[in-house]
Amino acid sequence: MLQYDTLQQESLNPYEIVQEQIEKAAALLNLSREAVEILKKPKRVLSVNFPVKMDDGSVRVFEGYRSQHIDALGPTKGGIRFHPDVNLDEVKALSMWMSFKCGVVELPYGGGKGGVICDPHTFSEGELERISRGFMEAISDFVGPNKDIPAPDVYTNAKIMGWMMDTYSRLKGEVSPGVITGKPIILGGSLGRNEATARGCVVTIIEALKQKGKEPTNATVAIQGFGNAGRIAAELLHELGAKIVAISDSKVALYAEEGINLPKAIQAKDIGTLSELEAVTKINHAELLELDVDILIPAALENVITAENADRIKAEIIAEAANGPTTPAADLVLRENGKLVIPDILSNAGGVTVSYFEWVQNLMNYYWTEKEVNDRLNHVMVRSYHNVSRLAEQYQTDMRTAAYMLSLLRITEAMKARGWCN
Ligand code: GLU
Repeated sequence: MLQYDTLQQESLNPYEIVQEQIEKAAALLNLSREAVEILKKPKRVLSVNFPVKMDDGSVRVFEGYRSQHIDALGPTKGGIRFHPDVNLDEVKALSMWMSFKCGVVELPYGGGKGGVICDPHTFSEGELERISRGFMEAISDFVGPNKDIPAPDVYTNAKIMGWMMDTYSRLKGEVSPGVITGKPIILGGSLGRNEATARGCVVTIIEALKQKGKEPTNATVAIQGFGNAGRIAAELLHELGAKIVAISDSKVALYAEEGINLPKAIQAKDIGTLSELEAVTKINHAELLELDVDILIPAALENVITAENADRIKAEIIAEAANGPTTPAADLVLRENGKLVIPDILSNAGGVTVSYFEWVQNLMNYYWTEKEVNDRLNHVMVRSYHNVSRLAEQYQTDMRTAAYMLSLLRITEAMKARGWCN
């Protein structure tokens, strides 16, 4: 039996969490100690402070980071987030999760991640542009199409990627669309990239349901977070006949037994927050996670399913559209309770998969149709889901550990082939 007392003292530091996840999978694979030591820390981390002129004429200094975990399989890849809670350990952990994510879906990348400590909601468009350009300038020698390729993450979007690509290109004196992905289509962004994280997540949910002999029709869904991944997952699942009974953003959580009116919710979110929505019951954020639904999609930030609430999670399938929403202690509880967790490094890998397609198209200067992109994404996600599921079955372990194992096998094979370790 699990000791609830010990679970209460769990670490919520994502950097410690990812190291624990590596150790667990590495032990099952009998990886050499030297390989594990290389993997447990990022190879390079850059910390920058850069000044930005604000609209009122004052100058503010912003702090940001870029972490590159490991480049054994290729250049590092991963988003940039703008959020007040960004910190170095979080960025390091997120870069490591990116390595394992790319490994699971077999992309020729290692993991990277960046972040700027700021609350983008408090800035004018001009200020946001100057912050975006200022950060890219500060990291411009650290990134590049064959070095490290950023993308959108929490509170960043295609517009910001466009400004960053422009700044990098101007600094280097050449047009360089391959330096960043998730760009506006007109600047070399890929069709399908905006929906890719959610689309990939939905593919893994469909495969999980199939394994249980079920279909999405009439499945009930709760979605925590209504950003890019959460809102598009809601739309795609709704199209498949599922019933989205609860959604939330950072301010409010809403429940409607008959299903949320999604077009209205999206409209409300576009002009402000979900709280403008009528004909729904307001619930608290904790309640949303504990609803008696078929599918729960955490689609916001880290550490929302912890030792404290894991035992109260009722959803049969938990599909992690966010990075790091579940702690290792919570994982143990969910497994004991027979829940199927589709881990972040698999469930949300659709975003980086289409980022890879975008980068390939940029390097070729030849662009695909949306159908080509979606078909290829679908193929990658179905294949990866079953690769992970088979390994979990073989080792009698959970999907997260199996996903790490699959990824670690690829990364360590490349490390050995390069002569970095035995
Ligand atoms: N930020 C996304 C993630 O966490 C996408 C990364 C990318 O496209 O490079 O997977």
